[in-house]
Amino acid sequence: MEFMNRKPIIAGNWKLNKTIKEAIELVTLLKRLIQDTQSVDVVVCPVYTALSDVSEVLIESEIKLGAQDLYWEEKGAFTGEVSGSLLKDAGASYVIIGHSERRQFFHETHETVNKKTKAALKAGLIPIVCVGELLKEREAGQTFEVIQRQLEGAFVNFSKEEIQALVLAYEPVWAIGTGKVATPQQAQEVHAFIRKEIAKMFGAETATSLRIQYGGSVKADNIADLMREADIDGALVGGASLDANGFADIVRNAVSVTVK
Ligand code: PEP
Repeated sequence: MEFMNRKPIIAGNWKLNKTIKEAIELVTLLKRLIQDTQSVDVVVCPVYTALSDVSEVLIESEIKLGAQDLYWEEKGAFTGEVSGSLLKDAGASYVIIGHSERRQFFHETHETVNKKTKAALKAGLIPIVCVGELLKEREAGQTFEVIQRQLEGAFVNFSKEEIQALVLAYEPVWAIGTGKVATPQQAQEVHAFIRKEIAKMFGAETATSLRIQYGGSVKADNIADLMREADIDGALVGGASLDANGFADIVRNAVSVTVK
């Protein structure tokens, strides 16, 4: 499979799961299971409270650490929030931004996604910016316009260089946690659309180099078919990332697609 020099990336979003002890157990096992995977970037995103301990376990490992959100202010009177520099301090190098659960349950808007993505880049983190349509939007034939609005909203006042420093995740909301994975063709159609939109906004070179993950009920038995599509550069994995063996199988199957 030719990835146009885009290194695929498999990231696990643990959501609100795992105590510190459970998180340490999971990554300790993952470290053992996931070796020789240089052709794919692997990231785990635990809850804030486990970041620092997980980062200790990941020293001298190829597996990278990510957070699930951040706040755009650096410091100050913002009770309950965590900034990009504090995530870096805890050992994170990635951060998920604009996940559909944040948009649905915590009222994230295009503007907050924009500010958070800017702040993440400023802190030296790699943002994983999520976009995706609701079931009712897909059924109403609005998928492309929803995605277009999300991209335009997220990337107001962005430079090419900033886009090149981030990862996008296409996550159809109807496929998240439902067991209803998009078909490789459905996902590819939207990934190609995203790349075309990014090309319009930031030029062909930026679009060609941008990594776009698919997310939504990814498992070991569907990752390879998804990644065989030309514009799918890996996956953001929710439920299946909570089990070390299942996640390691996803990574292994992703690696098998990258090795000719
Ligand atoms: C997610 O939360 O980003 C996700 C894709 O979840 P799941 O894999 O469980 O559908």
